Amino acid sequence: MKNFDLVVGMKFKNAHEFREVLRDYSVREGYELTLKKNESYRVTTVCKKGCDWRIHASSVMGGPTFQIKTIKGEHNCAKSNTNKFANYKYLGKRVEKIVRDNPDINIDQLKNTITRKCEVELRKYNPGSKFILRKKEDFETPTFEKLYFSLNAMKNAFLEGCRPIIGLDGCFLKTIHGGQMFVAIGRDGNENMVPIALAVVQMENRENWTWFLRELLEDIGGLGDGR
Ligand SMILES: [Zn+2]
Repeated sequence: MKNFDLVVGMKFKNAHEFREVLRDYSVREGYELTLKKNESYRVTTVCKKGCDWRIHASSVMGGPTFQIKTIKGEHNCAKSNTNKFANYKYLGKRVEKIVRDNPDINIDQLKNTITRKCEVELRKYNPGSKFILRKKEDFETPTFEKLYFSLNAMKNAFLEGCRPIIGLDGCFLKTIHGGQMFVAIGRDGNENMVPIALAVVQMENRENWTWFLRELLEDIGGLGDGR
């Protein structure tokens, strides 16, 4: 989903879309939000106890369109890396069917099944996609080092529909885990941006950019024998 800040005046198709955006904001930024009023014509949401941030949106002229009317206070809460929204909405639908089919499944088995299913689906529906997840060596508990991600459809969109120029940029990730995201984009004939690949690394440095670019070039077929 698009990475934007919530601002007063912002409009949404309906209350449902506003709630989705709030959920995304909550997960992305690591704030624990609670719906205080949740009605078809008005939604007020507060941050967890002790934080005075709150947001209020309501229907425009009684129609379905929703608009942010006020945002008050600042976040003075500690960001959280657990998020009830992420569990409930993001995985809920997927988990429901698995549990219905296997009522005795335990949590570890469920985790493995979900991971496997995601991988299988990616390979099945988008063969040629690449996903690399590296963990740090010399750590007892598995610790994230970096990841690379490119869907075959993204790659083909670049190879078949874009000029042979790749834009690169990095940005800070604002969640509790920090790190940086690298992204490679192309431009199609209509000046639209076409994402080709992305990576998440701990810091921006020569080593990580080299790694990202090597994976990218290998992906789009740019590395000859002189590698
Ligand atoms: Zn807060």
